[in-house]
Amino acid sequence: MRFFSEEKVSEVRDRSSIVEVISDYVNLKKAGRNFRGLCPFHSEKTPSFMVNEEKQIFHCFGCGAGGDVFSFLMKVNQISFPEAVEELARRYGVSLPLQTASPSQTKEAARREALFQINELASNYFQEILTRRREGEPARQYLAQRGIREQTIDEFHLGYAVDRWDGLLQYLRKRGASLSMASELGLLIPKGKESWFDAFRGRVMFPIRNLQGRIVGFGGRAIGTGHPKYLNSPDSSLYHKGEILYGLREAKTFLRQSDQVMIVEGYFDLLMLHQSGLRQSVATLGTALTAHHLRLLRRYTERMVLVFDGDAAGQQASLRLLPLFLEEGLWPKVVLLPEGEDPDGFLRKGHLEDFKRRIAEGPLLMDFFLDRLAKIHPVKSVEGRAKCADEALAMIQRIPDVIQRDFYLKALAERLELEVSLLRNRIGRGLKGRLRMETGTQGPLSQRYDSRAEETVVRLMTQDPRWVGRVLEERIIDEFESPSLQQIARAMEEVYRRRGDLPLSEVMAGLEETLQEKLRRIIFKEVVFEEGIEEKILEDCVQKIRERRLKRDKSELRKRIREAEKETGGEVPEALLAEHQALARREALLRKSGP
Ligand SMILES: [Zn+2]
Repeated sequence: MRFFSEEKVSEVRDRSSIVEVISDYVNLKKAGRNFRGLCPFHSEKTPSFMVNEEKQIFHCFGCGAGGDVFSFLMKVNQISFPEAVEELARRYGVSLPLQTASPSQTKEAARREALFQINELASNYFQEILTRRREGEPARQYLAQRGIREQTIDEFHLGYAVDRWDGLLQYLRKRGASLSMASELGLLIPKGKESWFDAFRGRVMFPIRNLQGRIVGFGGRAIGTGHPKYLNSPDSSLYHKGEILYGLREAKTFLRQSDQVMIVEGYFDLLMLHQSGLRQSVATLGTALTAHHLRLLRRYTERMVLVFDGDAAGQQASLRLLPLFLEEGLWPKVVLLPEGEDPDGFLRKGHLEDFKRRIAEGPLLMDFFLDRLAKIHPVKSVEGRAKCADEALAMIQRIPDVIQRDFYLKALAERLELEVSLLRNRIGRGLKGRLRMETGTQGPLSQRYDSRAEETVVRLMTQDPRWVGRVLEERIIDEFESPSLQQIARAMEEVYRRRGDLPLSEVMAGLEETLQEKLRRIIFKEVVFEEGIEEKILEDCVQKIRERRLKRDKSELRKRIREAEKETGGEVPEALLAEHQALARREALLRKSGP
């Protein structure tokens, strides 16, 4: 693999035209300051894929894909970064020096490779014991009793870690593997200097593979009295739980074929679904589903089905995911199993046809949510209806698509026998104030916060570096409420202080992927400020951010004073009173400078 200096990469990026390059793959049309077209990374009928020539970035509002000209080529042609650099250098006539990898880069690549090989060795060892050794008998019996077939054991490379302190340790030592690296991967546990013991003992082992088929970690199910029941590899430089789905590599072709994905929670749920012919399944493995997981899955299909346990905990778990799905613009279905059943057990009892029927008839998670609300809050009472409306609206306002949002507003209005305009207004005002019902009963206030002012400040900073200077003068970034916007603004501040300018690629390079995406979304929002009013906009935003911060500080202080009063029986400590006065002074100052 080749490596290029940062200057070379910048030169290639500067010479390239992102619009020209992407036009080879996408029919782009001018739209305001941007270009727009149908996204090549997900299927869509209305174009939500945007390209900005001036900033040299692209972003898809449908699937979240985005980046610079290099990431576009890498993604669309499935090539590596150096290959993308070479292709563009050829096209735009930039000569690349022949250069080999720097020693530190070669070392890092070699280290990763060594880590992968240790996982591979460990997996071979576990597999050999399960399938060929006498010591594997308890695990073979256990798996047979759970209905797992040999073919499934082979396909998923299941294994067994014997109930010994040094089984894997001896095996790795004999093969000259680095034991400290094995401990870094969570396979061994250190017990003093240069001495270790096996982390997995008496467990059926599930190797967890990435999309390239390489083992990044393991899960282990105790077959005896071992505690905990499930043990997973810790996050490591190879394994990031929020990015890996168990079984995705085996399922991916089936996801496309069936245009559907079933999401389960456990290893055995997944194996059983797979064995039952429902091979379009993946498992989350105890970690909560993340936005990253969903974006990974939607490369294959948008039709998602949650299959959780048929008890209160399972239902709660699926409902907790609703906001995540809504924000990604996804509409999952939920399969409801009989009380007390889990997918694994239900299928093992032979209810495959029943299971398939439940998939077909499963309600949308959103409908399931609304049904449940109506059950929890007595809609006969005014108060119950207000509570119900507010909880539902808090969810509905997360739906990005206007038409779908309106559909659910109408459905909700009908259910609660309220005027839909009442609900629309309420959502339009960001759920501020109280929902006024016939008798004026109060509904609970939603905690949604409004980050528009902070977003505008960030957008101004991206438009012209001179605004960064102004923003820093105001020291307003410290007062941001949104942690993600604050991180983005700080990254811009850092680059600006170092460079005196704001090259976007450098800002992006310092941000994690979800923040990069957020920043792209902000940049692409079609808001054109009229020449000359930016200063006024900035001032208004700064004022608003300060006011909100003051409000937060005030309510925080009020809480602390109340607590102190409770403790001391009515007396308020000096320090809190002083803070109270300081806040009052800040408020007076803010009033004076305000509109
Ligand atoms: Zn897309």
